[in-house]
This record gives sequence, C-alpha cells and structure tokens, in this order.
Amino acid sequence: MTKRQENIAVLESEGLGYLVQALIDKGYEVLGPRIKDGAVTYDQIETVRDLPIGWTDRQEPGSYRLVKSGKKTYFDYAVGPHSWKKYLHPPETRLWEARRDEQGFTVIEPERETAKKALLGVRPCELQALAIQDTVFTGGPYLAPGYQERRSNLFIVAVNCVRPGGTCFCASMKTGPKATSGFDLALTEILESGRHYFVVEVGSASGEELLSDLPTKVADDAEKEAAAKAMERATAKMGRELDTKGIRELLYKCFDDPHWQTVADRCFSCGNCTMVCPTCFCVNVEDGTDLSGQQAERWSRWDSCFTRDFSYIHGGSIRFTVKARYRQWMTHKLAYWLDQFGTLGCVGCGRCITWCPAGIDITEEVRALRDKEQSEKVQSV
Ligand code: SF4
Ligand code: SF4
Repeated sequence: MTKRQENIAVLESEGLGYLVQALIDKGYEVLGPRIKDGAVTYDQIETVRDLPIGWTDRQEPGSYRLVKSGKKTYFDYAVGPHSWKKYLHPPETRLWEARRDEQGFTVIEPERETAKKALLGVRPCELQALAIQDTVFTGGPYLAPGYQERRSNLFIVAVNCVRPGGTCFCASMKTGPKATSGFDLALTEILESGRHYFVVEVGSASGEELLSDLPTKVADDAEKEAAAKAMERATAKMGRELDTKGIRELLYKCFDDPHWQTVADRCFSCGNCTMVCPTCFCVNVEDGTDLSGQQAERWSRWDSCFTRDFSYIHGGSIRFTVKARYRQWMTHKLAYWLDQFGTLGCVGCGRCITWCPAGIDITEEVRALRDKEQSEKVQSV
C-alpha cells in the first residue's frame, strides 16, 4: 500500500461544495445524482444544492419510490435507473458520415470527445461495472471508437454505500459496499451525534492533488472507526444475495431446464433489465442516407438481447422465444461472460430487479435453478 492510499482525511459536510467548485475550476463538467422524473438520475451538477439532499428510496422487485429521509444527507439513496455507461458508452453514437463530392464521396470521422468529466457519487458496484466495460471495450484487439478518450478524461469521486437498497446484492458479488479501487477519491458520508462529515480516501495522484485544495484534516481513529462501522452495517443490511459458487457450471447444466419457461411466462421481453444494467453493452449498427442521396451516416444504438431482431441472422431470428432470450441474458451474465472476459457480467446493483415490470429477480432465478439441481442430485443418490 502506498503512502498516498494510507492517507485518510476528513472533510466536513460544508466542504463538499468546495470539492464541486474545485472540479469545475479545473475544467471538469461535474456529473452526479439529481432528482428527475421521480427518481435519482445522473446529470450535470453545478452546486451541491443540485444533489438529492434529504431524499432516499424504497426499492423492491418491480417497485421504486423516492421518500423524504428527514436527514440532511447528500447520498442516502441506492442506485437509480441511470448508470454511468450513458456517458462512456452513449445510447446513440455516430460512427461516421460520408458526403458525395466530385471525387465520389468523402468519409468524415466523428469529432473526438476531449471534454473532461468528473463523476460524483459513483457507487462501488458501479466502479466494478466501469472496470468490466473497460475490459469489454478496450481489453481485446479492437477498441470501441471513442471509448478510450471518454474514459481517460474522467475524474471519479466514489461514494461508499451506507444504506443499500432493497434489491442490492453487491456484498455477495464482492463489489461493495466499500470501494477498493478505480477511484480518484472515495467518500464515506457520516451523520452521527449531530455531526455531518465525509471520511475521504485517496486513490490517485489526481485525487491527492484535488484534496490538497480542500479544507480537510487527517482522520482520527474515531472517524475511521465510524466509517468502518458504517460499512459493516451496510453489509448486514444488504437486501439480497447471489450464491456464485460454481455458477457457470450450474447454468450450462441447466440449459434445457423447464424452469426457463416459468420465467418466460412472466417476462414481457421488454428489455428494461438490459437498458438499466451498467454492464450490458450490446448495440445495433444502423446505416441511413438522406433523401437526396448526398449524405450517408452509420450509427451505433443500444440494443437488447430481449428484442427478436437482435438475433436476426440471414432470414430469421435464432432466439424467437422469450424463454431463449431470458436464458441468453442470464447465462451470458453469469456464465458465457466468464469465458469471454474472465469476470462475471453482474455487479449486484439490483437495477434489473427494481426496474423489471414483472418483478423478475435474477437472484431468485439462480436460487430456483440451484434448488432444483440440488434436489435432483439428492433423488439420484
Ligand atoms: S426480465 Fe423483466 S425487465 Fe427483463 S425483459 Fe423480462 S420483463 Fe422486461
Ligand atoms: S444483471 Fe442486474 S444486478 Fe447485475 S449488474 Fe446488471 S442490472 Fe445490476
């Protein structure tokens, strides 16, 4: 562990405004949690007054409600429907355009994105989701256009989860509730005995430089203890868990299990789970021209394994049943992903459970398959 990482500071709650302003002064566009359309979403932050002060949420399968917490905390909510992937892997990206000219046509590359962005309030599970998308988009021989530039211009302020949501299961996925890497600064918000402050950990030279501009002090043992206790309480309050032991083998074994049909009977194949998921990355590539034929464009747009056309190959879809699509989604996340990228494709954020209109719960579906597998084993002994 470096000297820098051992350095734990305390920033009083009023100091958060200085942190936001210091980022703006350094030329960052600050993006963070804001209340919009009845949910905590991610958008531009100009002052701490934009943050969801005094709001928390109640999340259950197929249900999300914002409620007043009665406290003056900034980050007392669990993740909402947005994820940071909208900034790094945008829902729509123009890959190139071409214009007709005297020589035939000219291809115009899209402008490179060089704007510096600071992400404020990144949860530990979301740091892991960013790391997974890094592997997907930059870990192989072909780099996703623009991703590397967007990624390298980020400053990340993580915020540890002191109050997990009802659908969270990061503890069992070992992705939270405490951030361990992938951030410039990591905050733990403490409101105890009338005192409101942040315990701050430094994760990079940029984080250290920013922190030196803020009114902080070195954390004492009681403040470090308060942050550690908050993490213990959060782990104990986790809404769900997913047992990942032998999960790849379990899912491969259950490929033809009739249980997939019982999920399909409830699933609308709406694709909400893939849209809200911070690791899902599939896109469709669409070409178009203007009516005069002078200009053509190629766009990449988020797609979902729940649409029938997603698996369209030479005259037909190869996954034309909802059963095949749900099985593909879950088996990719928890089995094929390990073969492709060496990691699971799920970080336990719980969004797919909360935002599923049918309340389908990935942790319950794995449990159901595991229970069936166990009982079949017992019967065959
Ligand atoms: S599992 Fe839920 S969110 Fe996903 S496609 Fe089916 S109904 Fe929609
Ligand atoms: S599969 Fe569900 S719980 Fe896992 S990362 Fe995606 S949205 Fe979160």
